[in-house]
Amino acid sequence: MVLPVSLNHSIICLKVLNLHIDKINVVTQAINNNNIMSVTSLNPVIAENFKMDGGASFGVVPKTIWNKFVEADENNMIPVTSRCLLIETGNRIILIDAGMGNKQSEKVFSYYYRFGDESFEKAFEEIGFDFDQVTDVILTHLHFDHVGGAVKWAADGKTPELAFNNATYYCTKKQWDWALKPNPREKPSFLKENFMPLFETGQLEFIYEPGEFINGVKFEIYDGHTRGQLIPFIRYKNHTVVFMADFIPSAYNIHIPYISGYDIDPLLVMKEKETFLEKALDNNYVLFFEHDYFNECCNLHRTEKGFRANKTFRLSDL
Ligand SMILES: [Zn+2]
Repeated sequence: MVLPVSLNHSIICLKVLNLHIDKINVVTQAINNNNIMSVTSLNPVIAENFKMDGGASFGVVPKTIWNKFVEADENNMIPVTSRCLLIETGNRIILIDAGMGNKQSEKVFSYYYRFGDESFEKAFEEIGFDFDQVTDVILTHLHFDHVGGAVKWAADGKTPELAFNNATYYCTKKQWDWALKPNPREKPSFLKENFMPLFETGQLEFIYEPGEFINGVKFEIYDGHTRGQLIPFIRYKNHTVVFMADFIPSAYNIHIPYISGYDIDPLLVMKEKETFLEKALDNNYVLFFEHDYFNECCNLHRTEKGFRANKTFRLSDL
């Protein structure tokens, strides 16, 4: 059920948030439902395509190097996608991330050069799902291009309502606290109209620690891109598919020093990547890329220069 709330209400709630937070149902290890069946299908759903500054995507790596892999346009922008994931189990439909949505002003969107006709409406129609069938929305973090599509404006153009009416939404408590008191660098990406309505309708639950979410889906938590980023690991057809979110946003960012300029803690990201990539290689993980316009998935191999993408493929090839 959608309970429309006003943004003024959001601001008031912020002031008393610490009083409310203890009352929220806490999700630590698993949803209290032992009947949840394992994963039966995975469907990539693209929320939108847009462009990002190529330099920002590769941090200190010079353009003369990254431009060999990804060609920049005349404004130095490279194509990026918001490739979210719909997980079907016997009795749940789980969406991971929600794209940037449509609430922000044209001025804000003008910085992101959205292109093409990809949308959740189109993607859901193609696979035959309705928004109201979604039972759970996992938010890897609360940057606007991951959570914006979770909340839409009602017909009046100013009242927020949840895009997935019947869903419970999840993010880490660590990320929630981080987003409510943003540092100046991340502040433009933490827009309260994107996530306060989730809290106010009572449909947001917090993940406090890594562990199993449901049978076949577990979470790890990474802190280098932003604090408390949730990374889902999904068992599917005898593979482990890892939803990479902004931890490793594209196949071009696998090489350990190729770190996005948006990461808040680059040295920590490098440590996190090294540990993760060793494990991913040992276990032949499938890396599923949220932002890679060209590559949906890859597995890894080790070259004399370090970890690299081995084969690139689509989930439908598994
Ligand atoms: Zn992010």
